[in-house]
This record gives sequence, structure tokens and C-alpha cells, in this order.
Amino acid sequence: MPGKIAPLELVKRVRRGDHAAASRALTLVVNDAPSSEVLAKEFFKSSGSAQKVGVSGPPGAGKSTLTGRLIGYYRSKKLKVGVLMVDPSSSISGGAFLGDRLRVMEHATDSGVFIRSLASRGMIGGLTYAIFGAIHVLETLGCDKILIETVGTGQDEVEIASVADTILYVTTPSMGDEIQAMKAGAMEIGDIFVVNKADLAGKDKAVADLKAALGLGHSAGQAVKAWEPPVLATSAKNGEGISELASALDGHWAHLRKSGEGRARLKRQHATELQFWIQRRVIKSALDRVTDKILEDMVLRKTDPASIGRKLLR
Ligand code: GDP
Repeated sequence: MPGKIAPLELVKRVRRGDHAAASRALTLVVNDAPSSEVLAKEFFKSSGSAQKVGVSGPPGAGKSTLTGRLIGYYRSKKLKVGVLMVDPSSSISGGAFLGDRLRVMEHATDSGVFIRSLASRGMIGGLTYAIFGAIHVLETLGCDKILIETVGTGQDEVEIASVADTILYVTTPSMGDEIQAMKAGAMEIGDIFVVNKADLAGKDKAVADLKAALGLGHSAGQAVKAWEPPVLATSAKNGEGISELASALDGHWAHLRKSGEGRARLKRQHATELQFWIQRRVIKSALDRVTDKILEDMVLRKTDPASIGRKLLR
């Protein structure tokens, strides 16, 4: 996009569904550009209505392939889809590392799909803050569904949980033993569980094991949970089980809206976003006031980190 565009004009274009404008706005917002605060305010106003689905699970389970299938399904229903591929272990944002995510990339030229990758380096205030910023842009662009996929290490289910409305946890038949060892965190945050690669042997056992493991999570005497996480089988490779999965996702979305849990989760998301905003500003304003004189005094042991830190925070 040539030249500089005034922030409000950029917002207007994003609201009209202009992908190039969204891409530019997203870069400004996540990189904390001077205009980012004005932009972020406007985008926040137009957000809050899309279903944000976090796709989590171990590397190789088929998250990317499944995400591609879900995009295809939603597009067949004429829904607009946003995809954020989050890679905490990479330093490249933009399109660079998307090259090998072919299942997703076949949708890259569809005007009803907006795909963006986010990496952690250079994100002032952390990746989580950047994800929130990106989500608000995608919602302003008119996305009905936003799929947030973790690529790379797969160690950050919890980070995804703090930004998503619905967590989809993907595993496979061959990961049966891993279910036993599955991090307690994953069991707790999952709203929908999928045994992908159902075309391979062991699907039924994996589904049964997962159901049993989830059942064990309910301690006796505990009130019946309003939402029982379903366990589904899919073959992202063959396209099997995708409409059932989409129905489960819709079911959870309806549950969130009916039960009030959706509003509670939105509030938690906002609390986290606010926390990161404050952290970012406080740290930056304090660090901006660190002078060479202060560092010199520290070398001479005239002051110490706690004393000077306290002063800088005042
Ligand atoms: P991710 O790391 O979780 O995103 O996994 P990918 O989507 O990159 O898939 C990892 C590998 O599993 C790739 O070679 C896929 O082609 C393959 N794969 C994905 N889904 C299926 C499936 O349903 N069945 C089989 N047999 N292979 C699959």
C-alpha cells in the first residue's frame, strides 16, 4: 500500500473489508507504532462478536491440516474467516514461515479468508498482547470465526486459552500413551477434543481413553459441568468428521452465549489484555528514564536495582 494513510482512514478501509488495509493496520498495531494507540482504540470498538477458536495440541497432530479443513467448511457456509498462526519459537512474522503450511495457504487468495502469522520477537509487551491487537483488527474486518493456531513448539496452550473463547485440543490415535501423560493444563482448558488421523488404526481406543480421562477429571460430588467437552474423531487428511466438528464448535459458541460463560470469558480476556497494556506502559516509561548516570551509580554501588527501580516507578 503506497504512502502513509491517516489512522482513521485506515480503520475505515478495514471496516469496509479491505485486506491490504487490515494487513497494514495489523503490522502497526502489533509493532506498537506511534499511531497504534489510535488504531487500537478504534479496532477495539468494532470487536467482541467473533468466535475465537484456539487450536491447540502437540506438533504433528494435524492442527494445520484441520485448520485448513475448517476454513473450507466455513467458506462453504459463506462465513468470513480469520486465521492467526502463532509461533512463539520463531522470530519471523508476516508471511514468511507460512510457505509450508500449504493446507492453509490454499485459501490465501480467497477474499473471505485473512491469514496472518505472529512470532514473538520484536513484540513489545509480549506475544499475548499482539494476539489481542490482531484479533481486534480481524473482527473489524468482519471475520465471523477467528482460528488461532499454535505452530512450532506447542508448549503454550495456556497462552492461547487466555485469548480464545473455545479451545479445540487436537491429538491422534498414536498419541494414546501421551494422553495419560497429557499435561493437566490441556485437559482443563479443552472445550472440544479431537482424535485426528482417524484413518489410522486405534481411533476407537483413543477416543474411549480420552473420554475416560476426561471423566476422571470430575471429582465425586462436584456439580455437573454445564458443558461436557465432546470427544470427536476426524481425518483432516480425508475430510472426515469436519462438519461434526464444526457443529460442536457452533454448539460451544451457543452454550457460551446462553450460559453467560461467554461474557465471563470475554471479561477474563479483557482483564488479561489490560494487564499486558499496563505492564507494557509501566515498564517502558520506567526504562525510558534510565540514564547513564544511574548505571554509573550502580557500578559505584551508590544505589541498587531495588532502590532505583522503586524511584523510577514513582
Ligand atoms: P501440526 O503440526 O499439528 O499443524 O500438523 P500438520 O497439520 O502439519 O500435520 C502433520 C502431518 O500429519 C502432515 O504430514 C499431515 O499431512 C499429516 N496429517 C494431518 N492430518 C492427517 C490425518 O487426518 N490423517 C493422516 N494419516 N495424516 C494426517
